[in-house]
Amino acid sequence: MKRIAVYPGSFDPITNGHMDILKRALDIFDEVIILVAIAADKKTFFTIDERVEMIREATKSMPHVSVDATKGLSVHYAKKHQATALVRGLRAVSDFEYEFKLAAGNNYVDPDIEVVFFMAKSQYNFLASSTLKELYIEGVDISPLVPASVIGALKKKHK
Ligand code: ADP
Repeated sequence: MKRIAVYPGSFDPITNGHMDILKRALDIFDEVIILVAIAADKKTFFTIDERVEMIREATKSMPHVSVDATKGLSVHYAKKHQATALVRGLRAVSDFEYEFKLAAGNNYVDPDIEVVFFMAKSQYNFLASSTLKELYIEGVDISPLVPASVIGALKKKHK
């Protein structure tokens, strides 16, 4: 049986920190679905379509990766797509409390879907989508921190 995992998140935009987690998840799972979560109450810089497009472009050479978006719960999506796990990343202790609660909530909804955590690599430990946008706006070279598709999209968006 194929081991399928769902990697949910805002990905506003996707960074090399996310890409690193994705690659490591592919060592363990046969397939990973990157799931862009549509949160009605969350204001994002990029639209859903822009985020999905950037991720598709960044992962186009990765045959075992697919990209999708959902308005619903990640666990419901996972169950519907025969996935057995959700993948999340942990940077600092500050991520822990949020992720711990989220995992507990997911477990309440569906205890069959395991949440698997990957520790951020030290070079990406500081890297958040919000930090990235601030650095870009201030003229810092962010090209080592994101897939090329994100640079193009940021240029287009922030003229
Ligand atoms: P969310 O809004 O759901 O937290 P994000 O797109 O910010 O979505 O992140 C998705 C997941 O990836 C989260 O579990 C987050 O902790 C993790 N993540 C984000 N940035 C990094 C990074 N630089 N290194 C490792 N994991 C990360």
